[in-house]
Order: sequence, then structure tokens, then C-alpha cells
Amino acid sequence: MKRIAKKPAEKMTQQGDCVFGPNVKPVASVSPGETVEIETYDCFMDSVRPERDWKSLLESGEEILENPVTGPIYVEGAEPGDTLVIDIVGIEVGERGVTALVPGFGVLEGWFTQAPPLSKFSEVKHGEVVFPVKGRSVRIPVRLMIGTIGVAPATETMATVTPSRHGGNLDTPEVTVGNRVYLPVNVKGALFALGDLHATQGHGEVCGTGVEVPGLVRVKLDVLKRKRIEWPRIESPDEIMTVCSARPLDDAVRLAVRELTRLLVTDYGIEEYDAYMLLSVAGDVEISQMVDPMYTVVAKIRKQLLLQMK
Ligand code: CA
Ligand code: CA
Repeated sequence: MKRIAKKPAEKMTQQGDCVFGPNVKPVASVSPGETVEIETYDCFMDSVRPERDWKSLLESGEEILENPVTGPIYVEGAEPGDTLVIDIVGIEVGERGVTALVPGFGVLEGWFTQAPPLSKFSEVKHGEVVFPVKGRSVRIPVRLMIGTIGVAPATETMATVTPSRHGGNLDTPEVTVGNRVYLPVNVKGALFALGDLHATQGHGEVCGTGVEVPGLVRVKLDVLKRKRIEWPRIESPDEIMTVCSARPLDDAVRLAVRELTRLLVTDYGIEEYDAYMLLSVAGDVEISQMVDPMYTVVAKIRKQLLLQMK
């Protein structure tokens, strides 16, 4: 299996490794159907550590890269108008995660205006995240996920912190092992990259970070020729989801519901108003995150309901 290693830290740059764009040079190429292993830094490029916490790092004035990804990977045969299919085969993460309270970032940024830069370190072991609270430990089940996953937009170069139609910083817990992610291909080769793993994250990601961890991801990459989608989709063994990002939040909700309605029309042949009404009684809308430059919302429906109409 091809392994795509992390670049040495000194070779990483904000313009080269923290963006999705049509002009970023690929680090590897794969054939459709190939599985690759991808090493990733955490969202702070592994630089926030117990001996050097967020506060001391900020005080040192040292610049740290924002949300680096590994890639991009050129997928042979992928062309604009196709869909990239990513099966998340495996995720392994380090034994320590960091959660940071970043001033000016997070759902309560307008309330906690005087908040200090805080960082908490969790142990990740035996399927649990051991998270410190009040000098004690709260044990939270590990729920591994990929925070940032995307392809190059057609013309723009976008910072990896922004989620949009091309994927990016979706911070969606359903981007996890056993699930399949679909992304629209906008440029030849798709230029796929990922990073920003979380050992666990709540829906909403309210303070702005999950349990941020470096790790290793195994994905199988494939191409659906001449199948055009407008926004990312996720398929789990049980559900189909559309993933849309916008501000304000209600726009993200509208887009996700519209995309799922369209999906039911195009892929299941359901009449538009029927699809809309079905989603009203049997679909769910969830906030993935409300902290990134665009907010991300998932609309989902159980596949078992749709199979009845195939
Ligand atoms: Ca993120
Ligand atoms: Ca993150």
C-alpha cells in the first residue's frame, strides 16, 4: 500500500500545505480503486504540547501553521464533472490529544471576550479519551473522525480552515471509519488532501476544537465518471447525508435540505414535493460545527426508508 508521509515540519508552509487549490503541486498520484495510507499532523502542526501549551506558544510569538493537510493526491482519471469517492477504511491516532480555547474563536466568542488561551491535554487509550475537568478525569468514548477532507476548487485557492462545496474543514463527526464521502471533482486529478483528525468531537464543536490528534488514515479513492454533485455527501451503512456550509447558519440548513431533496429526486426518482415532505417527517438536520469561517450542517435520512421506494 502506498504511504504518503508527513513532510518534515520545516518544509511545511501556510501557502502550500494549508490550502486547497488548483495550483498546488501533488505529492503523489494514485489509480482509481487504490487504497493509500496518509500521515497527518494535528491542526496545530503538533506544536501545542504539555511542556509548551497554547498560552506559552502564543506568548513566544512563534507562528504556527493553521490546519495543515497532507497532499494533495492526484487521482488518475478524475476530471471536472466527476465525483471522487472516498472510503474511509481506517484511522489511527496518537495517544495524546489537545483541545484549545482560542480567543476570538468559538460559539461564545462574544461572551468570553476576556478568555485566556487555554489548552487541555487528553490521553487517548483503550477506546477512551481521558479528558481533564476540575482536576478529575472524564472518560469519553473515542469517536475518530477526519476534520478536514477536500479537493481543489476549480479556480480559487481556499484556506483549509474554510469548509465549502469542495469539502475542507467540515468538522463533521460522520466523516469516520466505515463511511464513504463523495466530493465533486473540479480539476483534473481532483487534488485530494486531508488532515485535522479528532479523537472525538461533539456536534457543534462549540469552543472551536475537538480532541486534536496527529494520526494515520487509510482511504480507498475511486472516481464516479460523469456523476456531478454540487456539495459533499456522506454515506454510512445506515444513512445518506448531504453536507453544506454557509453563514448564517440558516443558509447552511437550507442548502443541506435542498441538496438532500435533490438527491432523493435524482437518485431515487422521488417527486420533489414528496421528497421535501418525506424529509420533514423522517429526515434529520444536525449542526456539525458553528465555529469555522462557514458553518456546516448535515441533512440525513435512513437508507432503509428509501429502499422501500427503489
Ligand atoms: Ca477543524
Ligand atoms: Ca480540529
